[in-house]
Amino acid sequence: MRLKGKVAVITGGARGIGRATALRFAEEGAHIGIVDRDRESGEAAVREITSRVTGPENGWRTPLFVQADVTKRDEAQQAVAKIHERFRRIDVLLNNAGIVLDAQLAKMSEEQFDAVVSVNLKGTFNCTQAVAPIMIAQGSGRVINVSSIVGLYGNFGQTSYAAAKAGVIGMTKVWARELGRKGICVNAVAPGFISTDMLNGVPEKVLHQLNGKIPLGRMGRPEELAGVYVFLASKDADYINGAVLTVDGGMIL
Ligand code: NDP
Repeated sequence: MRLKGKVAVITGGARGIGRATALRFAEEGAHIGIVDRDRESGEAAVREITSRVTGPENGWRTPLFVQADVTKRDEAQQAVAKIHERFRRIDVLLNNAGIVLDAQLAKMSEEQFDAVVSVNLKGTFNCTQAVAPIMIAQGSGRVINVSSIVGLYGNFGQTSYAAAKAGVIGMTKVWARELGRKGICVNAVAPGFISTDMLNGVPEKVLHQLNGKIPLGRMGRPEELAGVYVFLASKDADYINGAVLTVDGGMIL
């Protein structure tokens, strides 16, 4: 078990990559706090993890779901406080909650722009600011920020998403400098195309074309991201700080 006894906060952990990661972290022995908007899917995630992960006899504790919108500062603060109260420490924050609302520049509304920046960028800021004092007091911690290859290379129709995900990389580098000296490593992961509900709106033809651009010839699976997050949260990544790790099957070589 690579994360035995660690406490991990996973935003957007009710579905998709976040949910797969919550399950994998739990399998690696971590105590999990899931922060997400939807109570039904959050509680379903907790049920799934509890039914699939064995080992309470080793001190493993049932995951805690906290319903919160990461764009709301007070909700993010309260969610972190609840998880800290329950598990008494926080070792890992995975800033995974994210949305896309795509439109070409000429057609993108102010609401679309604000919503995407609010979840992906400000939500990451809100949660990290809530967790940082706890990690500083502990003298240790890991923050993993979920960016996207779109934040590195841009993508047609994704002004708001590219802005937010590039911003996440900028904040990662600032926090790696600010928090590194406090024993906290901050890194970003830039996934390529991963098969989750987030890709539901992408037409089949476009998905097929995308596959053709990926040297590995296929989309990634949520579990393949989860393994990377385990690595970054584990002792094996002790000296990685301020990095941006692409996990995209070689798409943006
Ligand atoms: P999903 O849409 O499958 O899951 C995202 C989760 O985040 C959902 O549970 C969603 O809740 C939650 N969420 C959204 N907004 C908020 C909010 N304001 N507060 C709390 N929770 C929220 O996405 P993926 O699993 O595909 O993506 C996870 C992360 O990976 C995102 O940051 C995404 O940008 C990034 N990524 C994904 C890629 C992909 O191809 N899938 C590629 C590159 C990056 P709800 O059910 O309420 O919407």
